[in-house]
Amino acid sequence: MKKIFTPLICLIFVGILLALGLNLRVSAVKDRYHYETTGEIMWEIKTEEKVVALTFDDGPHPKHTAEILDILSNYDAKATFFVVGENAEKNSDLILRQYNEGHEIANHTYTHPLKTTLAKLEKELKQTDEIIFSITGTYPELFRPVEGQYSDQMIQSVVKKGYRVIMWSWHQDTEDWKNPGIHRIEKTVLKGVKPGNIILFHDGGGNRRQTVEALEKIIPELKEQGYEFVTVSELIKMKHVQTK
Ligand SMILES: [Zn+2]
Repeated sequence: MKKIFTPLICLIFVGILLALGLNLRVSAVKDRYHYETTGEIMWEIKTEEKVVALTFDDGPHPKHTAEILDILSNYDAKATFFVVGENAEKNSDLILRQYNEGHEIANHTYTHPLKTTLAKLEKELKQTDEIIFSITGTYPELFRPVEGQYSDQMIQSVVKKGYRVIMWSWHQDTEDWKNPGIHRIEKTVLKGVKPGNIILFHDGGGNRRQTVEALEKIIPELKEQGYEFVTVSELIKMKHVQTK
């Protein structure tokens, strides 16, 4: 009895492990390597050319977005704004200004929900697209998920709808939304910056005075180092040129 019992327990145990493993593999989110290979999500590009993409999430904010646009304009720098639809609706003048000054406007949902269903996300993307179109006459091509959280199902769905999903360089997350201090924001960007990086800032979601003040130092410093500031779509085009 004992002789049969032990292998049986082992067999059941192995069976459970296999089932768990299989299940995990099925539900796991595909990683950066996978999505960089397919080109469906972008974190940054590798290039020798001294370019970076400044990106701003969660705006427009009536005060801080205007201040940021002033700084960008002073240095002839282009940026990409991942806007929240309900803020875009309230600040259409700033969306128009972003567009007229050559910046890129991209979709960052309508209400910035941290958790939502796929159906609701699709609805929010469409709502924000229509708002941007009603102001600028063009539809955004890029989408950044809230907090960078994604599932394979989400990526499949948004890619099918024609969006390119944009994250940011992992070492270029300024965490400016936490108000960590001007110096900290500045240091995060300047210490590890490399050509082709996508830098993450926020122009909305709270008091962004630190972001504005840090930018006043970061932009001239990077310019001094020979960097040019391009939109994310411009960066994508450079990537295509490279891989040809
Ligand atoms: Zn956000």
